[in-house]
Amino acid sequence: MEKPKIAIVGGGVAGSTAGLYLSQLGLDITLFEQGESLVSGPPFCHLHAGGNLYREISDEQCITLLQQSIDLLRYYPYAIDYRPTVIAIPTDDGGKPEDLYNRLHKLRNEYQLLIDKDPLNRVLGDSSDYFRLYSKDDIERLKQKEIIKNPKSLDDWLIPVAHDVDLEKIQFPLIMVQEYGLNLFRLGGGVTYLLNQRDNARVLFNTKVTDIKPKNNRESCILEYEQDGEKKRSKFDYLINATGFRTGTIDDILGFKRDRLVEFKSAYVTKWENSDILYPEIVFYGERGTPRGMAQFTPYPNGYFQIHGMTPSITLFDKGLVKNSTNSSQPLLEPKFIKKIEHKWEENEVEERTKASISHISQYIPKFKTAKVASKPLFGAQQIPGVDPTLRASDVSFEGDRYARCEIVKASSVLSMIDAIVEKLIKLKYLDSSVYGLRDYSFLEDLDEDIINLLSKSICEIRDYPIDMADINRSSIRQEP
Ligand SMILES: Cc1cc2nc3c(=O)[nH]c(=O)nc-3n(C[C@H](O)[C@H](O)[C@H](O)COP(=O)(O)OP(=O)(O)OC[C@H]3O[C@@H](n4cnc5c(N)ncnc54)[C@H](O)[C@@H]3O)c2cc1C
Repeated sequence: MEKPKIAIVGGGVAGSTAGLYLSQLGLDITLFEQGESLVSGPPFCHLHAGGNLYREISDEQCITLLQQSIDLLRYYPYAIDYRPTVIAIPTDDGGKPEDLYNRLHKLRNEYQLLIDKDPLNRVLGDSSDYFRLYSKDDIERLKQKEIIKNPKSLDDWLIPVAHDVDLEKIQFPLIMVQEYGLNLFRLGGGVTYLLNQRDNARVLFNTKVTDIKPKNNRESCILEYEQDGEKKRSKFDYLINATGFRTGTIDDILGFKRDRLVEFKSAYVTKWENSDILYPEIVFYGERGTPRGMAQFTPYPNGYFQIHGMTPSITLFDKGLVKNSTNSSQPLLEPKFIKKIEHKWEENEVEERTKASISHISQYIPKFKTAKVASKPLFGAQQIPGVDPTLRASDVSFEGDRYARCEIVKASSVLSMIDAIVEKLIKLKYLDSSVYGLRDYSFLEDLDEDIINLLSKSICEIRDYPIDMADINRSSIRQEP
């Protein structure tokens, strides 16, 4: 029998991971990407290992995000920036630190259960350190200490916070959680190299899928695509729609109805001169969509900081959240957003919004007001399946036997997405049942730091971001299992 041919449309984190995983199982993969590099859709910087950035979501979603993040961390360890996250609740916020304790304890217990199941899951350190509370006295004590160049302990990481955050503006205790950074350039660089090594995986860049014609009672389909100005077609046995916020366009082509939301958001890239200090990520809670929306301070090496501010003049946009209509599965963003995604931003808007992000953070870290605009923003549109805009843990859905649509909201959900797709491929007898849930990390041996560095920096250059953003800090709290 001829090997079944699998088409993956879209080379974001969902499509690239599907390509990597399924080609490792020996399937014949063709990955279509209309852009010129992989993992170049909306950004990600945070591994949501417990969903602690989101007060509004259920404990169940937080637990799912914890499990999925540990899975992802073990699969892509080279993309992880091993530094903790500090959660601070401003004094003028309606919430209290103690509102979070119940969930934090649940997450800590869940993490211990995952370690009991497989000791190699201990990738966030001891479960007793999953979170730690710091009183005002603890912070005042740390404030007296010198900043440590290569922080090792949790206390070391908190010294710069104690020095630089305005302690009058936040409530105590401060909460430190083991949620790490996730570097999209490194993830993309590694996956590009690995897919390139596989004889049974073809990645077609600058190739846009324009039409799909189901054949033989949907047993196969013909994909029509444009590659370098040329129209082409090929037949496939299984279709994976991994087109991110454009997922509904393929649903529409195939005549499938599915409700979804699409949201355009942006984070800002800043340079803070004189800062060779390693900071943890710091999140100042706030009510989304108001001028006091959450402020997120995400460090990269060499003084670069990515900033989110969940206010309408920073990360969020008026009419940036849209839903599909009754006759289409594709929510329609206004042309001004598509222009940003497909062409570029107006210079003055980059300047204005990045400066607004700097002053948002400066309310809590006054010294940060000297930070400057470093590059264009990291931005994009993401899909949220269904009608609930707060949904964070979601993976994939299916129509019939031969069509999967990837619907991740967070990057960490890609492996549970793959498991569900593999289950379908087993049913079709394309794969043996023994491979269900398999995690074969042997591909990591083909990667070395030089390759990752080279490719992730080249993705940064192609996309016009500072190449330092392709790096991670080298002072590691990485746990060797
Ligand atoms: C500002 C912002 C910050 C975020 N931060 C985080 C974070 O910290 N952590 C986290 O986990 N998540 C974060 N997210 C969410 C995360 O970015 C998305 O969940 C994730 O990138 C979605 O990946 P994807 O592969 O499904 O889609 P995408 O990355 O959008 O990939 C889809 C790909 O399909 C290609 N494509 C589309 N149509 C076609 C076609 N017809 N033919 C060929 N190719 C096509 C596109 O070019 C694109 O490359 C953030 C999102 C935003 C907007």
